[in-house]
Amino acid sequence: EVVGVWFRRDFRLNDQTALFQCLERSKKSGGKWVALFHLDPKFSEEICPHHDYFFQTVYEFKEKCAEAGIRLHIIYGTVDEFIKKTLEAIPELTAIYFNQDEVGSGKIRDDVVRKRLAERGISATSFLDTHLTSATQVVKADGQPYKVFTPYFRTWSKIAKPAPLQISLNELQEYYYPMDSSIDPNGERYFSNIIMKSKRSWGALGESEAADRLERFTAIFHTYHIKRDIPSEYGTSQLSPFLKTGVISIRTIYQKIVECQMDIGEGAHTYIKELAWREFYNMLYYYYPQSKQQALREEYGNLAWETDQERLDKWKEGMTGFPIIDAGMRQLRQEGWMHNRLRMITASFLTKDYLLDWRLGERYFEKMLIDYEEATNIGGWQWAASVGADAVPYFRVFNPIRQSERFDPLGEYIKRYVPELKDLPAQYIHEPWKLPPELAVKYNFEIDSDYPAPTIDHQLQRQKAIALFKGGE
Ligand code: FAD
Repeated sequence: EVVGVWFRRDFRLNDQTALFQCLERSKKSGGKWVALFHLDPKFSEEICPHHDYFFQTVYEFKEKCAEAGIRLHIIYGTVDEFIKKTLEAIPELTAIYFNQDEVGSGKIRDDVVRKRLAERGISATSFLDTHLTSATQVVKADGQPYKVFTPYFRTWSKIAKPAPLQISLNELQEYYYPMDSSIDPNGERYFSNIIMKSKRSWGALGESEAADRLERFTAIFHTYHIKRDIPSEYGTSQLSPFLKTGVISIRTIYQKIVECQMDIGEGAHTYIKELAWREFYNMLYYYYPQSKQQALREEYGNLAWETDQERLDKWKEGMTGFPIIDAGMRQLRQEGWMHNRLRMITASFLTKDYLLDWRLGERYFEKMLIDYEEATNIGGWQWAASVGADAVPYFRVFNPIRQSERFDPLGEYIKRYVPELKDLPAQYIHEPWKLPPELAVKYNFEIDSDYPAPTIDHQLQRQKAIALFKGGE
């Protein structure tokens, strides 16, 4: 027999559940395995930064597999075409193994694939791999889902977490099913085109870079709880794009933290809590599958958000006139990644200062973030907009100037992304419009001409936001 391992967001050869289980099966049955990747036209038509990074990761993985003598077959088309082409090329195929998506569009696709394979008499075997606990594992005593993080975390913490799975490359090679030709030459060509057309370089990608990052991060683990909110510093692991594409396994990360936990105490505890937030959001999205469109808190489902394309564009471009907001939004454009503190402040600004619908922000982040995870992004947006489970209360509105002074006191982060302000003294970096005329001359800086004047009055908008929410109650 031949078993297909379908890679989707788990581009690694170690500690990969579907691959591990497939190998176990091959060792027992003497069967072989093939590596598959389905290229869906839906995701390859419009290449945004999120997809660009994803495809470049797939490319890196394909090359790495090739070095090991393993071909990652790229199969282009709808789900039905993917199945049809694979079965035509490999009539001995008896099963497809994959790591399941529990939520969102991935779950819908998985359900279709299971059905289609069953119709053809092929078994579909799927595994939990992307998270430490499944979406339904951590629930209240009465079986209901948690809506508040703290009690969820208490229960989550008590559950034993799975250990990493060691996979031998030699065995992978031994049981690999070699094929002279590719399953879908068109798919290979189409994929090469996508890669050739890409104009962005994302730096080092893949499994070994992720392992290096984890190693580097262990040196600063102990300060995580202190530095994780300072965007100018290297204070967080920056592993999110790697977790999203699955070039590193969540079990490997978790084990590393637990190993160091005795020495680093609070840093590790805080880090584990962040991983648990990721699982909390996965659980919420599972139980509330409409939440990409609908606020979890029903009373805020139909708030009268304003419509203002000009504001939305200014926010996207990093031209709001609030340096900390503009720095965050420009980091996103340049790097496809944004520091967590900035995600919170910029999301709050869009919804509570610009009074624009959180769904517009969620969709923009979906295109731009290389670490885009549907459940986490929706959860983060609903949290910041005060419309989700365990969200910040609506009357607590982030003040962009106070946030800036607190988390970037010297303006180091701002200066990195808003070069127009790089010569200004720290005292004025958070509110450049307050620069006295004599200093404006000295620094050759003119507000509105060199950098936008503030586009809104924060205190006024804050009142409007509170009124908006009160109206919804
Ligand atoms: P670290 O601080 O090193 O944390 C380690 C890991 O824990 C992260 O890689 C991530 O997987 C998880 N994590 C950390 N913070 C959170 C959090 N607040 N919620 C859930 N999981 C967390 N994260 C994404 O991975 N994808 C998204 O699409 C995404 N969208 C967001 C949107 C908004 C509006 C907000 C407020 C947050 C969002 N986050 C998202 C969460 C968080 O900002 C990122 O996970 C974090 O900045 C990634 O950087 P890091 O790997 O250095 O994190």
